[in-house]
Amino acid sequence: MKGKVEIAIGPMYSGKTEELIRRVVRRNIAKQHGMIFKISSDTRSKDDNVISRAGTFLKAKTIERSSDALKYLNDNLNYVAFDEAQFFDEELVEVVNSFVDFGTDVIVAGLNLDFRGKPFDNVMKVVAISDEVVLLTAVCMVCGKDATRTQRLISKNGEWIPASLSDPIFKVEGEDVQVRYEPRCKNCWKVGKWKCQKLEIT
Ligand code: ADP
Ligand code: MG
Ligand code: ZN
Repeated sequence: MKGKVEIAIGPMYSGKTEELIRRVVRRNIAKQHGMIFKISSDTRSKDDNVISRAGTFLKAKTIERSSDALKYLNDNLNYVAFDEAQFFDEELVEVVNSFVDFGTDVIVAGLNLDFRGKPFDNVMKVVAISDEVVLLTAVCMVCGKDATRTQRLISKNGEWIPASLSDPIFKVEGEDVQVRYEPRCKNCWKVGKWKCQKLEIT
């Protein structure tokens, strides 16, 4: 039988890693065997763990690229899981398909939108082939409503302002003291656009 694909998407702090861990733990209780993959470019946790902000964590295997996961295709795994899917390369969907064809279930967690409000293609391709899609929301840090988006803020003259559209898509929090992220609803979410040397908020 072919494998099932389950994906949890949402903004930062929405509980994607928590959900992935919950699903893995349930399967382990059911005596299933599996493996969690994380990508080496995700430098936020230095050891081989996936860690949720709620404090739960599980051992994971760090790989360089999506296709490295296929080394474990013959290991008789009941499931594999991929956390932070947006950090994986474009081949992720093919890799997921390979596990599915082999009969292995796949659990994925990833961001829906980048800070500019654009979908992550590799995540959305997995959504398209999923059997179960869960959209998680965080709490909007401005108004307290359900947050579906991730706000990037940059520090300028001692003030936190929305990052500009032209900024690079990936910027790891903590790596640069000038950047931080927070979940926001679409009404409170803003992206700055540089125009005539003046920052305009659209
Ligand atoms: P994700 O992987 O989606 O970034 P995590 O699973 O790591 O999220 O963390 C989710 C946890 O983050 C929640 O259970 C809660 O304890 C905590 N948290 C902190 N800030 C928020 C927020 N603004 N909205 C929701 N959860 C938050
Ligand atoms: Mg996470
Ligand atoms: Zn809001």
